[in-house]
Amino acid sequence: MISPIPTEFDFIVVGGGTAGNVVAGRLAENPNVSVLVVEAGIANPLDVEAIATPSQAFTLRNSKHDWAFKTTMIDRPEYERVEKPNTRGKALGGSSCLNYYTWIPGSAATFDDWAEFGGDSWTWESCKEYLAKPVNYHDDEGVYSKDLQKVGRNGPLDISHSSLLPETKVFRDSLTNAWIEAGEKVSEDIYSGEMHGLTHCMDSTYNGIRSTSGCFLKNKPNVTILASTYSKKINFDGTTAVSVSVLVGGEEEHTFKANKDIIVSQGVFETPKLLMLSGIGPEKELLSHGISPVVTSEHVGQNLLDHPIMPYCRKLKAGTGLDNHLLRAGYEKDGAIAQYRKDRTGPVGSGLLELVGLPRIDKYLETDPDYVKFKRENGGVDPFGPGGQPHFEIDFVPMFSDAFQWHFPCPSEGDYLTVIVDLLRPLSQNGWVKLNSTDPLQQPHININFFSHDLDIVAMREGVRFLDNILDKMEIVGEHYPWPMPLTSNEAMKRAILERSQTGFHPCGTARLSKTIQQGVVDSGLRVHGTQNLRVIDASVIPVIPDCRIQNSVYMIGEKGADIIKAAYPELYAEAP
Ligand SMILES: Cc1cc2nc3c(=O)[nH]c(=O)nc-3n(C[C@H](O)[C@H](O)[C@H](O)COP(=O)(O)OP(=O)(O)OC[C@H]3O[C@@H](n4cnc5c(N)ncnc54)[C@H](O)[C@@H]3O)c2cc1C
Repeated sequence: MISPIPTEFDFIVVGGGTAGNVVAGRLAENPNVSVLVVEAGIANPLDVEAIATPSQAFTLRNSKHDWAFKTTMIDRPEYERVEKPNTRGKALGGSSCLNYYTWIPGSAATFDDWAEFGGDSWTWESCKEYLAKPVNYHDDEGVYSKDLQKVGRNGPLDISHSSLLPETKVFRDSLTNAWIEAGEKVSEDIYSGEMHGLTHCMDSTYNGIRSTSGCFLKNKPNVTILASTYSKKINFDGTTAVSVSVLVGGEEEHTFKANKDIIVSQGVFETPKLLMLSGIGPEKELLSHGISPVVTSEHVGQNLLDHPIMPYCRKLKAGTGLDNHLLRAGYEKDGAIAQYRKDRTGPVGSGLLELVGLPRIDKYLETDPDYVKFKRENGGVDPFGPGGQPHFEIDFVPMFSDAFQWHFPCPSEGDYLTVIVDLLRPLSQNGWVKLNSTDPLQQPHININFFSHDLDIVAMREGVRFLDNILDKMEIVGEHYPWPMPLTSNEAMKRAILERSQTGFHPCGTARLSKTIQQGVVDSGLRVHGTQNLRVIDASVIPVIPDCRIQNSVYMIGEKGADIIKAAYPELYAEAP
C-alpha cells in the first residue's frame, strides 16, 4: 500500500530521469502547481555510494540501478550480435545517475540540421541559451579562462572541469605533446558551436560528487515522487490524454488524473514502449499485440540512433596510469581512498576522463576508394561531418576500463590506457524499438543496428588508425592489450570492429521531432502528433544525433520543453518567457 496521496495533479511526468526531473522541477516553480513524478527506480540515488562517487561509475553496469536492456547491437547478414546489459539508469535522475559525466554541447551545424524536423525553434541559435540554462559552472581555483563561465547560467546542476590529478600529469603532457606533434589542435573552448581539437573536459560532478537531475526537485514540496513505480498505460478520452495507470512496486495498480499535461520522459527505450502500450504507434505493431490504436503513428520506436564506439587498450609506462590507485588492493589504493574520505579529492573523486579529442580525419578517409566514391556521389560533401563537425570524439582514460571491454580480464598488474573511438555521425540510422509483449514490466525489443551501412566500418577503421599513429608518438605508450590490433589489414580490422565495438551510450530518436506525423512522433512543441495534453520530453525526441556526448542536449530539451509548457499555460505562469 502506498501512503495516501492525491489522485489528481496538474501535471504528471512519467519517468523521473534526466529530462523528466528538469521538467517537473521547472513546472513546480509555481508553488500552486502540483506535479507527480512516476519513477521505476529508487528515490534517493545519492545515498548509494557507487552512484555518488565519480570513479565508481563503471561499477554500476548491471547493478540493480541499471535497466540492463537486452539489445541487438549488430544485425548484418554475415554477423549478428545480441548483448545484455545495455545500461540505462533506473533511479530518480535516470541515466544522469549512471552516466560517465562528460559535458559537451555539440556543434552548431548539427543543431541547425534539427530545423528540418523541428522548424526554426530547434536550431543552434534557438537552443543555445537552454544548453547553458541548467548549469552552474565552477572553476574554484581559477584555472580556466573566465570566458568559459558562459557554459552556465546559474542553473541548479553543478558542473566543473575534470580534476587535473598529479598522478596523471606525465600522461597528460605526453598525450598533449603527441597530439600537437601530429598537427592537431588543442582548444579549451568547445562551447561556442565549434568543436575541434584536444580539450580538458567538463563533467557533471563538483567537489568529488556526482551531480544528477534530482537537483531540480530540491525544495519543491509541490512535487510528489512515486518511486519504485512502473508506468502501465496512458488513458485517453478520445485522443486527449487524461490519466496514467501505474504499478506501485510493480504490482499494485493505481490511476492518477492530470488536469493539464502528461509528459512522457522514460528515455529512448521505455518511452516508445509506453506510447505503444497506450495505443500510439505503428498500426501493424499495435495490431500484432492486440492493442487498439488510439493514434496510428508509424515513427514511434523507429529512427533509433546511437554512436558506435571502438574501445581498446594499450599498456602505459608503470606509474603513469590510475590502475593501482583504483583497481587493485595496495598502498596506492588505500591512499586514494583516505584522500577521498578526507576532502573528496584525488583519483576516487575524479571522473577518470581528463582529455577528450575531437578530430576530423579527412586525410585518412580520402585513402579509401569506397569513401571517395560515396563522397563524390554525395555532391562532394563529406557525409561524416557535412558542416565541418569533428568526425570522432576520442576519450582517453588512463586506466583499464572494463565498462567498455568486459570480455577481457582486468590485468593483474601494470598501468593501461583505455581509448574510446566514438563515430559521431554514423550513416547507419535505422535502429528500432518494438514491443516484446503487452506486459508493461517486460523489456522492449531493441535493435540498435550498428554498422548496417558499410561505410561506418571504413570510418571506424580509419579513426582507429588515426589515433594509433598518435599513440605511437607517446614514449609512455606500449603494446596493445590483450592482443595486437590488426591495423595493417582492412579485412581483419573489419572483423575486430564488428566483434569489439560497443554503444557510446547515446541512444536517441525513437519519438523524434517532426513537422508532421509522416516525419516523426512529436511536433515542435513536443506534443505527440494526433493527441492533446500529451508530450514527450527526453532523448527520444532528438532527430539528428549530437556530435558528442548527449546529456547536455537532453538537459536542454528538458529546459526548453518546460518553457514551452509554461507558455501554453499563461494562467499558471504569468512570468514565463
Ligand atoms: C552508462 C552511460 C554513460 C553515459 N555517459 C555519458 C557522458 O559521459 N556524457 C553524456 O553527455 N552523456 C552520457 N550518457 C548519456 C546520457 O546520460 C543520456 O543520454 C541521458 O541521461 C538520457 O536522459 P533521458 O531523460 O532521455 O532518459 P533517462 O535519464 O534514462 O530517464 C528515463 C527515466 O525513466 C524511468 N523509467 C523508464 N521506464 C519506466 C517505467 N516503465 N516506469 C517508470 N519509470 C520509468 C527510468 O528509470 C529513468 O529514471 C551516458 C549514458 C549511460 C547509460
